[in-house]
Amino acid sequence: MPEGDTVYRTARLLDPLQGQVLERTDFRVPQHATADLSGGTVVETVSRGKHLLTRVDRAAPEGTERWTLHTHLKMEGSWKVVRRGQRWPRPANTARVVLETARHTAIGFSLGIVELIPRDREADVVGHLGPDLLGPDWDEQVALANLARDPDRPIREALLDQTMLAGIGNMYAAELCFTSGVHPETPVGAVPDLTRLVRRAHQMLELNKERWVQSTTGDLRERERMWVYRRDRSPCRRCGTPVVVEMQGPTGRDRASYWCPSCQPLLS
Ligand SMILES: [Zn+2]
Repeated sequence: MPEGDTVYRTARLLDPLQGQVLERTDFRVPQHATADLSGGTVVETVSRGKHLLTRVDRAAPEGTERWTLHTHLKMEGSWKVVRRGQRWPRPANTARVVLETARHTAIGFSLGIVELIPRDREADVVGHLGPDLLGPDWDEQVALANLARDPDRPIREALLDQTMLAGIGNMYAAELCFTSGVHPETPVGAVPDLTRLVRRAHQMLELNKERWVQSTTGDLRERERMWVYRRDRSPCRRCGTPVVVEMQGPTGRDRASYWCPSCQPLLS
């Protein structure tokens, strides 16, 4: 599952469409199979946590229709933009949306969510999110207040909950627990400096938002980019203890959690 910074970069990838007229659109999902936004102008694409909102204005007899194409990458999804007529980088049968301007073709492959909604209904799809770590409205105090409401909840699980703060996925959750020196199952209320953790989350995503190769260690070399994420059985960078991995989280939504048993004690 992509992290918020990947989704942010995906929104920037779609910037070439901004201000351009759509000459052809193709929605390859059952509920919008007959939808057509051709003739519409792409206003912008913004990210909200892990959600993407592509806004399109389209002149209609009754006045301008203001649409929002809501998409989510979920596990496998991606957006790609190619010059019109160029070969697509992924198989055409995995395309869920095609937006074509005079110069570009944007293709959304294997997207987890594709829905077309009136712009004034955006709150229905992103209104539940906590402050967006990469949003213009990022608010540390609100994020901290959200987390503090449930002090007994394991910190990693709370960080993954997009209604607390939006943008953290499995990777940043693991790395943030490590850099804060706490076991992922440590209750929120027992984390020594929650403000520092949240500030660091903001910094990590900000630092990585403009680059496709993510790093939390500051080292961009392939095997050196992470402290613990996907480093199970490798020695901890700080103390040499082998990093461990275990499935954690609510049943059915449990995911691999990585930590160093020495550097990250379970506090209570
Ligand atoms: Zn360690």
